[in-house]
Amino acid sequence: DNERQSGGKKVILAEPRGFCAGVRRAIEIVERALELHGAPVYVRKQIVHNEYVVRELQERGARFVDSETEVPDGSVCVFSAHGVSPQVRANAAERNLTVIDATCPLVAKVHQEARRYARDGRTLILVGHADHEEIEGTFGEAPDRTVIVQDADEARRLELPPGAPVSYLTQTTLSLDDTEEIVSILQDRFPGLTGPGTDDVCYASQNRQNSVKSLAGRSDLVLVVGSANSSNSVRMVEVAQDAGARAHLLPDASHLDPAWLDGVTTVGLSAGASAPEILVEQVVARLAELGWADIETEVTATETVVFRPPLGLEPASARAA
Ligand code: SF4
Repeated sequence: DNERQSGGKKVILAEPRGFCAGVRRAIEIVERALELHGAPVYVRKQIVHNEYVVRELQERGARFVDSETEVPDGSVCVFSAHGVSPQVRANAAERNLTVIDATCPLVAKVHQEARRYARDGRTLILVGHADHEEIEGTFGEAPDRTVIVQDADEARRLELPPGAPVSYLTQTTLSLDDTEEIVSILQDRFPGLTGPGTDDVCYASQNRQNSVKSLAGRSDLVLVVGSANSSNSVRMVEVAQDAGARAHLLPDASHLDPAWLDGVTTVGLSAGASAPEILVEQVVARLAELGWADIETEVTATETVVFRPPLGLEPASARAA
């Protein structure tokens, strides 16, 4: 029987996995901008943190730049899903760019909260990774009153003037467990601290982490398809490792090292929020070649969130309806 032939080898596919609503929307926005305005359409930073997605859009006429200041005056410029600081918007306005904003609505919400806290005269602790684009953008809302805390150690060491009203916000793609720990340290240290709890960690990050945690309990090896600069994908690997599994980030099938499979029976497979399904399919095909052909899906949540593109950029089918 099948089980005996394969030695019980199997793959457990996580569901949900891969694209979240914010990533779908951001990619759709670039596609629609290309249809409406024609090439080139400039995109500030990687639209989402995935090389495959970027390459595909490049082939269709998107031009990725590091800074809005590289975009020729008067051109069309898309802001990536990770959001931008007010300074970037000002630079774009100065260059007369036609801006199309693909910031994920859940990131935009954190920006809004940052502006509100700043307006209320509060000091803002921003929990997240200082070198990540999302944090650069959120920090820029109130740079004079914001401090960034990257981990529990920094939370323990943080010094703020006594008596100042303090709030915190978090990056959307952090690990839930790390965030809980950091927030509880901050709460102990700064009485009166207000903030969102772990609610700024978006639904997609939460669901993907939970599913990977469950996979880790049932697999000898967990693979997460995603790029190295994808924060939520890297967090998924860490969550699997913290749950006791061996885990690797996998940019695509060509990076799958057969040595990882030594002594492995069950492989858990998921994908970060910016990783397209085709990359998962290629990994599934590669695993089948290597003898892991049985596939089971483990559903840990159902996602129904859809974010529509901004007005005027809806897909043709939606406008006709
Ligand atoms: Fe938005 Fe979360 Fe997706 Fe980031 S991972 S684009 S915050 S839904």
